[in-house]
Amino acid sequence: MGEKNKARLTFLGTGTSQGVPIIGCNCPVCCSADARDKRFRASALVEYAGLNILVDAGPDFRMQMLSQKVHHLDAILLTHNHKDHTGGLDDVRSLNYVDRRAAEIYCEENVLGDLIREYPYVFSFPKYPGAPEWHMHVITEEPFIVKPNNDAKELVWVHDVGYSYRLPDGSLVPTCKSISEMIEREAPAPDGCPEQGARVIPVRGLHDKLPVLGFRFGDIAYITDMSSLEESELEKLKGLRHLTLNTVSYKKHHSHFSLEEALVLADRIGAEHTWLTHLSHTFPNHHEFAKYLGKECKARGLRSDVQPAYDGLVIE
Ligand SMILES: [Zn+2]
Ligand SMILES: [Zn+2]
Ligand SMILES: [Zn+2]
Repeated sequence: MGEKNKARLTFLGTGTSQGVPIIGCNCPVCCSADARDKRFRASALVEYAGLNILVDAGPDFRMQMLSQKVHHLDAILLTHNHKDHTGGLDDVRSLNYVDRRAAEIYCEENVLGDLIREYPYVFSFPKYPGAPEWHMHVITEEPFIVKPNNDAKELVWVHDVGYSYRLPDGSLVPTCKSISEMIEREAPAPDGCPEQGARVIPVRGLHDKLPVLGFRFGDIAYITDMSSLEESELEKLKGLRHLTLNTVSYKKHHSHFSLEEALVLADRIGAEHTWLTHLSHTFPNHHEFAKYLGKECKARGLRSDVQPAYDGLVIE
């Protein structure tokens, strides 16, 4: 794989839907002084093929962008529409303003439908001045290409009026006049590296009964909020250097892999490293959990080195 397509992933959040610590909880994990036990809601920043790609924008989006000093995103990919993954999408307003670009958001059709219902002011016309500028890309299970958003039209901020686009003759027009103008449907990407942009491979799984997507970027795959993964999808996860899997507890859970299920899957997929995310306070503190997993991997002779991820961890 060429340098151009080498992926680098920064974990921006590795906590369960309530984050860690949990409001009002006095358990040892929630009271831990170790920075690795402070977990924002699950999200990752992927640098791939020269692009800045964010996976999920939950309620901690603002702090996550600030902590990593992000001032430009080419794309936001959504795994599914649960608020711990989409609750921060209003805050793209800051990037709209600083970067003068609409946020390029990639998601499945059902997620788009939910967003139209849950963020009606983003999709109403004329727009309230300063409402978020989103440009939606509908994706499926087929590989797709994320384009650099520097190529997108530049937003012009007009005081009291809102965002507009400037026409070649200098006049200003509203960014969009209808929902359909805000939506682009992505065609399946052909095999091989695109000349421009990044080729991303979606991975289908179920989150209880809700279909969700994971994403593969070169030799890194990011999977969260799954409780099952179709056999046919394992084919897409061969030859990985890094895999991320979600787990929230030791016990069987209706919508997430249990730790046992995650370990079995990590072994089957056999990535060099498997990082656990979406972690809850039911696991011990980071230090103890890492020690426990190290022993388990060794005792079971797992084909992958399984470790808990933590906020700020960078893998490449
Ligand atoms: Zn979640
Ligand atoms: Zn707790
Ligand atoms: Zn979820």
